[in-house]
Amino acid sequence: MGLFERDTEIYRDRDALREDYQPAELVGRDEELRTYRAALQPVINGEQPNNIFLYGKTGVGKTAATRYLLEHLKDDAAEYDDIELTVVFLNCDGLTSSYQIATRLVNEFRGEADQISTTGYPRASVYEMLWDELDACAGTVLVVLDEVDHVEDDSILYQLPRARANQNLGDAKVGIVGISNDFSFRDDLSPKVRSSLCEQEIHFPAYDATDLQKILEQRVEVAFHEDVLEPGVIPLCAAYGAKDAGDARQSIDLLMKAGDLARDDDTDVVTEDHVDGGRRALERGRIKEGITGLTQHGHLVLYALLTLELEGDAPIRSRDVRPRYTRFAEMADRDPLVPRRMRDHLSELAMLGIISVTERNEGRRGGTYREYALDMDVDLILDAMEDTVRDVGVHGSVQDFLIRGDAPDDNGAGQHGGSKGFDADRSDSASDDDGGRDLTNFGD
Ligand code: ADP
Ligand code: MG
Repeated sequence: MGLFERDTEIYRDRDALREDYQPAELVGRDEELRTYRAALQPVINGEQPNNIFLYGKTGVGKTAATRYLLEHLKDDAAEYDDIELTVVFLNCDGLTSSYQIATRLVNEFRGEADQISTTGYPRASVYEMLWDELDACAGTVLVVLDEVDHVEDDSILYQLPRARANQNLGDAKVGIVGISNDFSFRDDLSPKVRSSLCEQEIHFPAYDATDLQKILEQRVEVAFHEDVLEPGVIPLCAAYGAKDAGDARQSIDLLMKAGDLARDDDTDVVTEDHVDGGRRALERGRIKEGITGLTQHGHLVLYALLTLELEGDAPIRSRDVRPRYTRFAEMADRDPLVPRRMRDHLSELAMLGIISVTERNEGRRGGTYREYALDMDVDLILDAMEDTVRDVGVHGSVQDFLIRGDAPDDNGAGQHGGSKGFDADRSDSASDDDGGRDLTNFGD
């Protein structure tokens, strides 16, 4: 037997659960699709297209609906000899300026050999190039700017819809489809941009659990073999996506995680337990991403709280976290932040769901104060801020976790060889020996 053996007892087509899969039909979006289709109708009539603005939270089908309709539009436009339709689809994630958008658009139109670099041209000349490319398309051009809320200046959103009115274009009829996950983006646009970009607005509401069940049922048909899911699996995945965001992506991701866990278990049934396990894994992934994305001061605050928690001092007030934080910052060669800024980091950690906050009453004086405690498992946190732990050194309270982390099933937390230990002569304050003397070099 080879080292690799095909195991597809569960999945018929696992790729159908991936982000880049486009379903052949959309479930339960009839009304939105009707409005959207009507907004695109001028294209088929050979008229100047509307600018369309789509908004709604993440995972509610905006991108899927756009791809679905534009595919149909291209096919149907091909039936008419007098319609020349070009569609450019650009996701603006990672693009922050109009300049970047404009260069990317120019390159979308150009061949491999004529690409322009994304820096170095004056903005006006990039726009000139863009108008030339658009004009070269002659007929109708639809420019889709997905996740357009990433763009921080609105120059392109003003220039593009007006290119024709400003006589920058000859024959090309340009329409823009802007898609935003962020409700406030539209309101923050200047009135002149809003009126041209948002000629037709289409709102995609969040899905409820019933909607999500239907979407999942459709996807399961494609992705899984018949009868491999326990009856509770789809409702659980639907409930998860509906819980805080009405996000179909979350539901589908969970279903895939559950399927993968079942596959790892070598069974051909996906159970509710697999869904539970999948939920925990996704949650861990989310938290880990959150921690990784923090600044080093965020990590230092978290590290301080983590060690205090392990020593049994939490829930704990901000001012009592402070000495430990200050010392950790110094050990990492960073200037400690002022108390208020340090507290901001505690609030941010709480917002991410990594730590918990309890509001307490001061007693007779009537004021309130907050106490913080850890809300996540230690291994996960240590793993996600590995670099900071290395810079500060390994505190005695976490040593066991890092050693345990050396076990073969580990996720990398064990690779701390060479990290520096604590200076045994220093502690948070003269009177408070916090265990600093137990500190030793890890990895020696
Ligand atoms: P958005 O662009 O609004 O963030 P997407 O269009 O990317 O959301 O949808 C998220 C995922 O859910 C995609 O994998 C998509 O295929 C799927 N999806 C969303 N809505 C539907 C629907 N109505 N029918 C089938 N699949 C859907
Ligand atoms: Mg999208």
